Amino acid sequence: MNESHFPNFENTERAFANLSSGQLRKALLLFQTVGNGGLVRLGKVLVHVALALRIPLGWAIRPTVYSHFCGGESIAQCEQTMARLAAGNVHTILDYSAEGKETEADLDATYREILSAIQATHTDDRHAFSVFKVSGVAPTELLKKVSANPDSLSDQEQITWTRVQKRVVALCSAAAEMGTPILIDAEESWLQPAIDELALTAMQRHNTARALVYNTVQLYRTDRLAYLKRITERAKMEGWQLGVKLVRGAYMEKERDRAIEKGYPSPIHPNKEATDRDFNAALEWCVDHAESLFCCAGSHNEKSNALLAQRMNQRGLNPSDGRFWFAQLLGMSDHISFNLSAAGYRVAKYVPFGPIRETIPYLIRRAEENSSVAGQTSRELELIRREVERRKQT
Ligand SMILES: Cc1cc2nc3c(=O)[nH]c(=O)nc-3n(C[C@H](O)[C@H](O)[C@H](O)COP(=O)(O)OP(=O)(O)OC[C@H]3O[C@@H](n4cnc5c(N)ncnc54)[C@H](O)[C@@H]3O)c2cc1C
Repeated sequence: MNESHFPNFENTERAFANLSSGQLRKALLLFQTVGNGGLVRLGKVLVHVALALRIPLGWAIRPTVYSHFCGGESIAQCEQTMARLAAGNVHTILDYSAEGKETEADLDATYREILSAIQATHTDDRHAFSVFKVSGVAPTELLKKVSANPDSLSDQEQITWTRVQKRVVALCSAAAEMGTPILIDAEESWLQPAIDELALTAMQRHNTARALVYNTVQLYRTDRLAYLKRITERAKMEGWQLGVKLVRGAYMEKERDRAIEKGYPSPIHPNKEATDRDFNAALEWCVDHAESLFCCAGSHNEKSNALLAQRMNQRGLNPSDGRFWFAQLLGMSDHISFNLSAAGYRVAKYVPFGPIRETIPYLIRRAEENSSVAGQTSRELELIRREVERRKQT
């Protein structure tokens, strides 16, 4: 591999240049705290109790997990974070983080927030993509029903489904009009067939010259590498460009629990090695089919990020090739993001925003993820500690 294109994930000075020493010390404390599984479980219970009793939580959450993992309550409040990322040539993906909305009024409100985030990308090239979850603009039960059997909808459900379709069409069309691509997140397997269908229709419509709409493929599912291959061939045959975000998948325990409860085989690989194998094979597939697709790799896994960089290099693709993006979440794996961007790759971070109360499910997932993926958390901690020490000595 060309030396200058090799990302050096050990460079903590570059990785954390975007954080002041105060911010770095806060990050150290945060990762030490979330690394303690017992504390995270206790925190989760306390948050649920506080929410149920309507006790204000902002004072505890805003200066700690919220300020670390979120950009702010509004798009305007994300400005500082966006500037910080842009200084290290890392792009932003504004992610409106309200979840679990079900009423039409709430779904419309979420739709409008996502639309504002899409409009914010206009003429501001710090934005790489916009993003949304279909469940943010659709009642979950309806997504489930459409996924199981779209022909079984009642007249009223059909009307609601038409409204969902219109919202998704409008979001993708707005993104296409702005000229900044949009990512459609992947969700639970029992909602995904409906999401895939909506994404497919949008890709067929907008991805003529380049990918403006990206669907997401979760490689912890046993059937998704084959799906990726099928959809690549289909795009090629029908003459449009596939847009694909590759992730391992965020709902493993929920997926397994439901499969046991309902008595069907788990759709998730039996172990981490199998997930890793498919994720890495998917990365390689994308590089090897670069003529027909655009890819965004969403991962905090060092080996996978290095593998993608290496494969691009082997195949003679320039690191700055616009068809390949590396993406991480705000507050995580800065050593990957900033060192990849320094080596010339295209990198973006999800910057979640929204009222503190609305972002709590997202924050709980981040805390749990960082307490359960022991290896990664200790890696993050080790690097932050190293940088704190380095700064003391300079
Ligand atoms: C930019 C970005 C966008 C994302 N978008 C989405 C999205 O749209 N939908 C979504 O579901 N997730 C999404 N995620 C989350 C993602 O799916 C992973 O949960 C998370 O990134 C951890 O995986 P990893 O590749 O970073 O690293 P790793 O730490 O190497 O992998 C952890 C992942 O491996 C898998 N895994 C762990 N243990 C096992 C096991 N025993 N058996 C089988 N598999 C196992 C799980 O998927 C777990 O999350 C996104 C992540 C990023 C960074």
